[in-house]
Amino acid sequence: TDLSRIRNFSIVAHIDHGKSTLADRLIQSTSTVADRDMKAQLLDSMDIERERGITIKANTVRIDYTANDGNAYVLNLIDTPGHVDFAYEVSRSMRAVEGSLLVVDASQGVEAQTLANVYQAIDADHEIVPVLNKIDLPAAEPDRVKEQIEDVIGIDASDAVMISAKTGIGIPDVLEAIVTRLPAPTGDATAPLKAMLVDSWYDAYLGVVVLVRVIDGTLKKGERIRFMSNNTVHHVDRIGVFRPGMQPVDILGPGEIGFLTASIKEVRDTSVGDTITTEKKGTEAMLPGFAPSIPVVFCGLFPVDSAEFEDLRDAIDKLRLNDASFSSEMETSAALGFGFRCGFLGLLHLEVIRDRLEREYDIELITTAPSVIYNVYMTDGSMIELHNPADMPDAVQVDRIEEPRIKATILVPDEYLGDVLKLCQDRRGVQLDLTYAGSRAMVVYDLPLNEVVFDFYDRLKSVTKGYASFDYQMIGYQEDQLVKMQVLVNDEPVDALSMMVHRTRADARGRVLCEKLKELIPQHMFKIPIQAAIGGRIIARETISALRKDVTAKCYGGDATRKRKLLDKQKAGKKKMRQFGRVEIPQEAFINALKMD
Ligand code: GDP
Ligand code: MG
Repeated sequence: TDLSRIRNFSIVAHIDHGKSTLADRLIQSTSTVADRDMKAQLLDSMDIERERGITIKANTVRIDYTANDGNAYVLNLIDTPGHVDFAYEVSRSMRAVEGSLLVVDASQGVEAQTLANVYQAIDADHEIVPVLNKIDLPAAEPDRVKEQIEDVIGIDASDAVMISAKTGIGIPDVLEAIVTRLPAPTGDATAPLKAMLVDSWYDAYLGVVVLVRVIDGTLKKGERIRFMSNNTVHHVDRIGVFRPGMQPVDILGPGEIGFLTASIKEVRDTSVGDTITTEKKGTEAMLPGFAPSIPVVFCGLFPVDSAEFEDLRDAIDKLRLNDASFSSEMETSAALGFGFRCGFLGLLHLEVIRDRLEREYDIELITTAPSVIYNVYMTDGSMIELHNPADMPDAVQVDRIEEPRIKATILVPDEYLGDVLKLCQDRRGVQLDLTYAGSRAMVVYDLPLNEVVFDFYDRLKSVTKGYASFDYQMIGYQEDQLVKMQVLVNDEPVDALSMMVHRTRADARGRVLCEKLKELIPQHMFKIPIQAAIGGRIIARETISALRKDVTAKCYGGDATRKRKLLDKQKAGKKKMRQFGRVEIPQEAFINALKMD
């Protein structure tokens, strides 16, 4: 294809501002997909994405478009995920394209993820076309939002395209703007092959599929290619483009985006940001690499039914084929038996993986307290990366502990600002900045990540009635007064409930945790003490009183079927319990006990 007739772009937006709907509309209005095959949010393929309305894997589609100038153009759209946990995927796909559509909901205005995503586009040197969506809504205020884009982001919004992705208003203008306002790619077809590995995933039929952007030279079927980061050589079996289904082609030239398969066994063998060239007479110059994605949140996953351990292992192996960013290693817990310690990019990522394990593989799981990675400096001068509070060394051997901190940006309507400040303050935050963008406040806080991983999003949402938006980045490690808090149920330590807490918060946290567990653990035939302790010191205590009588016999003495039904229910419920010494703890206690409200 003639380079001047190609446009490569992505769409950046805050979640729910209409990115997927716009992508659908672009695909539909160019007849890329026949109307009868069109379903909503075509690019969001996984069920869980549809349900949660988030795009997890970057997706891509090639669109043919005949512009008003009479020429036929090829438009390559790379759809990027909109959630903070997946920022690494946004940055990787940004570097494969030259421009972005900045979609802003005209009834909402600029939000935290609008900012985070547009700055990534600016970093990648993109030409940016602002698009104001949802102008069909009575609450739309396009002029105010244009002004806000100029004030807050600092890009010209006078030529913003006004659209409704829902009704289709303005879609032809978006297509024209892509052609006339975004730059064509550049590249040299006669130079040695240089292509960027943008993404990769596991396909049940094809094995590992690699998304590539050709920079220079041409990629041909049947060729032998080299991944420059690890010098592995592969034979290209298949190349093609997404329309959005896979369509084979014979070559991909400069500026083009497509896929290849090459009998690659595992996603792990392909590193994102790598340079692909030919085995012989390849390019010398590697592309600047991308930052690797590293797990920041860890938790233990254990099967409720210990007989399902092997099933869990298989399921985790399968999921890891598709998601090289989540890590796992076997873990044994005195209380929970065999399971896995898994690492995630953030809390949403954790939830997504846990849901997929439960749903797609039908395994009921106990999730232990999420934890960040602490750097524990020992008195002998060595340092341990602590992924699991249960492994915390004896306090006398520890010199100091450092914890990861984040820079969080929160946008919130004025009236909720006080509550947001209080929440951040309660979570040991240090305010860095407070400015206004129209009637919305933008606060920037330096916060410990461990105070964010439990339920910060949930709390933020509830105190602001859903009107706040949030984004964060890691800023580094800092020493603080951290201690390990243990929980003892009936005098037995429950390692799955161990956590690292700040010394000044330990008493309050311990008290809340014991109170919650008292609610969550059912009464037994004997009295159950619940204690929180730091080292040998008990900091909080509750007692669950003994159950005196057989409740079912008492209440439903006459009705035998009802009684049996209740007993069946109890039995089913028991499966979701875990035995700790003589005490049974329900599955949901592990996660619910950790939520702080
Ligand atoms: P994404 O999270 O940015 O991908 O947003 P979606 O495309 O999933 O859209 C979020 C919600 O906004 C969905 O319920 C859409 O139907 C709705 N939506 C998208 N575009 C428009 C629009 O132009 N007008 C109205 N009224 N609703 C829209
Ligand atoms: Mg979407």
